[in-house]
Amino acid sequence: MTPLLAKAIWLLGVVGWFVIRYPHDRRARRTPKRQRSDRGRESLLMAISAAGLGVLPLIYVISNVPRFADYAFRPWQGWIGAAVFAGSLWLFRRTHKDLGRNWSVTLEVREQHALVTNGVYSRVRHPMYSAFWLWALAQALLLPNWIAGPAGLVGFGTLFFLRVGREEALMMETFGDEYRRYMARTSRILPGIY
Ligand code: SAH
Repeated sequence: MTPLLAKAIWLLGVVGWFVIRYPHDRRARRTPKRQRSDRGRESLLMAISAAGLGVLPLIYVISNVPRFADYAFRPWQGWIGAAVFAGSLWLFRRTHKDLGRNWSVTLEVREQHALVTNGVYSRVRHPMYSAFWLWALAQALLLPNWIAGPAGLVGFGTLFFLRVGREEALMMETFGDEYRRYMARTSRILPGIY
């Protein structure tokens, strides 16, 4: 594994992510919404997350900026990063399949929203966010740069911690005790741990 190959794998992972999401994005536009959370706040959180998971690492991959933050690449970190990215894409695909029409890029409730508690949703409530954490971790391993590497953990972490409580509140408001019971028997992102 060379730094160049690690960068190429990161890029391939991001392209894979877009390919998985594209059809869901198109369908989501046509699915009617009932309730939508604060749009300005949601857009800001998504911009922060996209900067960390997309823009900063892309600048680094293309132009090696910021060079001063580079450190020596170790092949094992590239291999682990590639495996983690593959796991992230697998989980990302599963979550989209299980959530189906109930998925939204922001916090929203659809006209005919069903609570999904099966498949990858049976043990964790936020497996799609687990997939994003894995992407961010893979990025930190694949890119040997102290800024571009961890940027995803910081960017997505900001979105995650400022959104997850509100999302659960919205789900409780929509599904009441059904969601409370679901919360009681599941973890947020890591089965049995958190
Ligand atoms: N937090 C989930 C879903 C992310 S998509 C995950 O990480 O897998 C965000 C949208 O999914 C929100 O607008 C919310 O309405 C919806 N949602 C979240 N959990 C859900 C569930 N268990 N069933 C159905 N919809 C859900």
